[in-house]
Amino acid sequence: MSVYPKSLRKTVSEIYNKAVTTGNVIKFESTSKYLKTSNSAEGNLKYHLTYCDIDGQKPQKPERGDVVKENFNPFLKHEPELTVMDNIMDNEYKLVLNKYPIVDEHLLLVTQKQVPQSSLLSPNDLNAAYKLLKTLQQEFDEEDEEEDEDDDDVKKERYAVFYNCGPNSGFSIDHKHLQCIKLPNKLKTYQDFLVQENPEPYIPNVKRQPLEYESVAYANFNVPLPKNLNNDDEYLVMCYVSLLQRALTYFQQWEIEDPKDRLPTSYSFIMTTDWMTIIPRSKSVAEVEFESDKYTLGTNALGYLHMLLFKEEQKKLYEDMLAKKDSTPVEDFLLACGFPNNFGAAPGENDY
Ligand code: AMP
Repeated sequence: MSVYPKSLRKTVSEIYNKAVTTGNVIKFESTSKYLKTSNSAEGNLKYHLTYCDIDGQKPQKPERGDVVKENFNPFLKHEPELTVMDNIMDNEYKLVLNKYPIVDEHLLLVTQKQVPQSSLLSPNDLNAAYKLLKTLQQEFDEEDEEEDEDDDDVKKERYAVFYNCGPNSGFSIDHKHLQCIKLPNKLKTYQDFLVQENPEPYIPNVKRQPLEYESVAYANFNVPLPKNLNNDDEYLVMCYVSLLQRALTYFQQWEIEDPKDRLPTSYSFIMTTDWMTIIPRSKSVAEVEFESDKYTLGTNALGYLHMLLFKEEQKKLYEDMLAKKDSTPVEDFLLACGFPNNFGAAPGENDY
């Protein structure tokens, strides 16, 4: 049985447009530019840099009072103007609009019950998220078999789901929520290149580990997904568990290296209909230097989708990097918020 109606995408647009007009959604204006990576090893990669003067556009209280108030949990409140669906999978989830989006129609798949944001993704979380991607991309079960000519057009609209798990992953509300956004036009991430080179889907196991993209500096674990899961609800779970296992082994090895710097387990989970990724995270915020100026940047999972956000205090960095066509600060930053790639031994008997 389908979890979402086929008309979901249209419903999202209608509710979003109305909520923006009535002021229930407060959209931040921004500008975005692509920057080709200056790291020659990263070849064709590009970053999608967005400048947004969030603080300058922040609404006056009380509108934004809810997010700044510590420990306030907006997801326990019923907000009809932001709610797209309120009864998903026997009322386990609701689908709501992000109240303060930078990208249009930013969706949140929120558990009805308060569950910590550091908890593991459950089989239902994964399947609800995957079906959301498929529905928004207008890929419905019965049509999946037909390779019709419109397929390419549909694929132009790609969506991604992400989950910021653990204290260093960059979440702000400690109530389990997966997020879903439409990817910027022409965004091609390292994961896309990786699955292009390794298109055969498989479930990682002891003999065959998750894929790692070697040309980025940060540790990354990835798996290509099949075009059609044929309602095999366990498939995503097995992929997730194998990526998580790899990330946990990484944390385990890191702790062995320097036990006094024990870090809480945090990771960025990202999924499209083509692949699933886990990036172990060491920080949500890091300092970078460019042309002898220092900046503090932050990111959640979006940084590892090549999408970086620059606020007023980082405007000079945003402009200078584009002017000089130099993406080094982004590369340094993503490494600082993750862990070094190829660190430690291949997984062995100490694996989780
Ligand atoms: P994160 O910061 O990753 O935990 O994601 C939480 C998101 O929820 C942020 O992007 C906020 O903009 C958004 N948000 C804050 N308050 C509300 C609310 N009342 N309703 C819906 N989304 C909200």
